[in-house]
Amino acid sequence: MSVWKVGIIGGGPGGLMTSFALEKWANDPLRVTLFEASDRLGGKILTPRFDRLRATYEAGAAEFYDYSHHDDDDPLKDLVQELGLPITRMEGASAVVRGRTVANLDDLREHFGSPAADALLAFDRLAKDAITPQEFYEANPEGLSDPLVQPGFDRLLAGIASPSACRYLEQFIHSDLAAEPHQTSVAYGLHNYLMNDPAYMELYGIAGGNEQLPRELARRLAADVRLNHRVLSVGRTTSGTLSVTTDHRGQLAEQSFDAVVVALPHDAFANVAFAGEQLAAVMADHHAEYDHPAHYLRVTVAFREKFWQGRLAGSFCMLDAFGGCCLYDESSRNPGSSQAVLGWLIGGDAAKTMSGRSDDELIHDVLDTLPTHLAHGRYLEMEGRVHRWVGAVNALPGGLHARTLDRRHRPDPAKHPHLFVVGDYLFDSTLNGVLDSAEYVARWIASLMADCPRVPA
Ligand SMILES: Cc1cc2nc3c(=O)[nH]c(=O)nc-3n(C[C@H](O)[C@H](O)[C@H](O)COP(=O)(O)OP(=O)(O)OC[C@H]3O[C@@H](n4cnc5c(N)ncnc54)[C@H](O)[C@@H]3O)c2cc1C
Repeated sequence: MSVWKVGIIGGGPGGLMTSFALEKWANDPLRVTLFEASDRLGGKILTPRFDRLRATYEAGAAEFYDYSHHDDDDPLKDLVQELGLPITRMEGASAVVRGRTVANLDDLREHFGSPAADALLAFDRLAKDAITPQEFYEANPEGLSDPLVQPGFDRLLAGIASPSACRYLEQFIHSDLAAEPHQTSVAYGLHNYLMNDPAYMELYGIAGGNEQLPRELARRLAADVRLNHRVLSVGRTTSGTLSVTTDHRGQLAEQSFDAVVVALPHDAFANVAFAGEQLAAVMADHHAEYDHPAHYLRVTVAFREKFWQGRLAGSFCMLDAFGGCCLYDESSRNPGSSQAVLGWLIGGDAAKTMSGRSDDELIHDVLDTLPTHLAHGRYLEMEGRVHRWVGAVNALPGGLHARTLDRRHRPDPAKHPHLFVVGDYLFDSTLNGVLDSAEYVARWIASLMADCPRVPA
């Protein structure tokens, strides 16, 4: 029997989710081949251990966004449940500003004065009037106008009546944005502000490590998974199928497919050559539309004891260091465990600039930011780890224009109708976004298969 052959490029969450959904929804037999350049699956979901300790921490994606209280339809939560993965709730509502904790409006008033607190309240009203919880959940750039999706969040912030309120806001959302306000849009800036409000969404992690998500997906796949296969180029064969050329430890090979899905983030996308003048031009245009790099830097430190216990509320808080960064209590992910781990998530220009510093310097830098009442903790440090993610996330997900979902996922309908792309950069730079993208493409291919079933040979 002749079957549909589908090639998937990238073994991160996007590639794995596409394979999983396609295998589930295709009514006819199919053969999926998944190419991954590195020696592991999971991409930017990464839960390593320290070298000298048993403790784990999140080096990439930190948390999952939970929309299930708005709507029964929360595909990521459904997937986590389908895979039988246990979750732990995450929460954090406070910021540490100049050494003092700011957790509510009274703290804000006391700390910054009434005009600044009023300016923050006015901004909060503006944000909530602009995007309702339901609109936030749907987060579909297709429904937005171009001015809302183009860079300009800095102009909105400039309208805040109080400079100290404006600075506080910038710092508060800096590590979620991973970019500076002028690099992102009004829509995405407001989205990152509102995500801190539980009426809009809640947060969770996977108990025992977020990396269990890609691991469990991979375990269930029938696909032929090829690790250490870097895709070099994609093109069209003379018979009209799509060809994929890979490099496996110096050995080049070419394979042809009925459909190909490029499940690569925008920064890896540029390293694949698209053969033929037309395809090269279309893919260059696609890349330019979404080429808005944003940056992360993660420094994680294990300590001898939890010296912050009872003195830092929740699973994380915001610090006013490095333009605004997030301090995670990594130990809170594994309740009951004795590990004592803090993680600093630094974003935007600070992450990019600081990435040039050595690991030792960075560990020293983050320990300097411990609030005064916790400063003694630096003497309890046991081991630090650094992960650099320069250019790895997107400052303007959804692109410069409000393109339709079809247009975003199929760059060249006329000449290469079976070449698809999947990525969080097409939605909102999150795992929820990459799943929406993966499921959209998987459904599309499944329906193409149903329309053109293969005839038994
Ligand atoms: C520090 C950090 C924190 C984050 N925090 C969150 C968070 O809290 N919540 C959230 O929802 N999201 C978060 N994200 C974003 C989340 O990690 C991404 O949405 C998700 O990883 C995107 O999946 P992907 O498969 O598109 O890309 P990736 O995860 O980057 O996977 C792409 C894969 O493709 C492989 N590849 C690259 N080039 C080739 C090639 N030529 N051939 C074959 N394979 C190739 C790579 O090795 C990789 O395995 C965070 C990201 C970072 C970096």
